Amino acid sequence: MSTKELFLTALGLDHPWYIKGITFDSTLKRLDIQLDFYKGSKFTCPECGAHHCIVHDTKERTWRHLDFFQHQAYLTARVPRIRCEQCGVKQINVPWARKDSGFTTLFEMMVLNFAEHMAIKPLSEMIHVHMDSIWRILSHYVDQAHSQLDLSSMQQIGIDEFSKRSGHQYMTIFGDLDESRVVYISDGRKTNTVHQFADFLKQKAIDTCQIQYACTDMWRAYLRGLKERFPATICVFDKYHVMTMMNHAVDLVRRREYKEQKVLKHTRYIWLKNNQNLNHQQQVTIESLSQMNLKTARAYRIKESLRQLWFYQHQEDAELYLKKWYFWATHSRLDPIIEFAKIVKTHWTGILNYFQCKITNGIIEGINSKIKTAMKRAYGFKSFKYLRIIIYLIAGKLDLPTQC
Ligand SMILES: [Zn+2]
Repeated sequence: MSTKELFLTALGLDHPWYIKGITFDSTLKRLDIQLDFYKGSKFTCPECGAHHCIVHDTKERTWRHLDFFQHQAYLTARVPRIRCEQCGVKQINVPWARKDSGFTTLFEMMVLNFAEHMAIKPLSEMIHVHMDSIWRILSHYVDQAHSQLDLSSMQQIGIDEFSKRSGHQYMTIFGDLDESRVVYISDGRKTNTVHQFADFLKQKAIDTCQIQYACTDMWRAYLRGLKERFPATICVFDKYHVMTMMNHAVDLVRRREYKEQKVLKHTRYIWLKNNQNLNHQQQVTIESLSQMNLKTARAYRIKESLRQLWFYQHQEDAELYLKKWYFWATHSRLDPIIEFAKIVKTHWTGILNYFQCKITNGIIEGINSKIKTAMKRAYGFKSFKYLRIIIYLIAGKLDLPTQC
């Protein structure tokens, strides 16, 4: 086998393509492979698929290919424009690259694989490709795979806000709780954000009635959006969000009491932890503080009592328990706790709906760590446009091409 034949086979090409020449420049660390097609070859129309179209003219183009050892490799070819009887003059699709890309498909697959495992900036430096080009490649394949997402069996969704950067800029993540994957990302956290998700489902011919449960926090805009566009979906308030609010109420009690009770100094995190997660020293502290008839200790007991709620199996039992808890909380004479109890009352059904399906946004929280990774990967690219691509890439479980 000659060198030219070897390269042709390695590139996976055959008739009408052949290798016209190979130039190797060790100073420039560059390998150039010149491809050409045999004279008189006919090609398929890229629009209608008609075969045997004659060549109208050609235009020379170059593509970056996978490195040849430590040398950058490039393919060059004159790309024919054919004359199709139906469609007129059209540029053909070459077998080694997608339309309008300056990289071969194999090179793009390599970029895709690396981007799943490393940050964009060092990737750009490693392969000597401008970051904009990398984003263009990722965007193409991610969008393509995302548009082909199969959501036909999705019944439980989680909705969670995510801060884009420090400050108050949010995006909303819609998760498929059955498959633990991010299925949709929208900028902002408004009612319209939920509408956009409903529109996305509509585009994919998914009836919103298919979604049985939506797990969310108590953010009013989400609830309004769900009511408007997911009328048949049962709303479940995420238990972790409920407990976060409860913890916040306990902390408010502590902060107020601290003004008179300096013994509470450095105890903030002890009150926020679950009792079972306290270490020995923290247990001792809590026990001794509990004997001092502190308001904070009372708030803490109310919190720990609410935590027991989630262990119930049946909704009726849970409701009886929650009623007792509510009575206790509203008679605690602790304003932040009473305020929180009122919120519980207003969101009563959504909290108890948990016992029908036992879903939480824990999956999304798990996805959160992937998103944090994604944000690090997109370092220096904090705009929604880039975050969206990288989050789908890392947490979307997309069916991405792995080879050409
Ligand atoms: Zn045609």
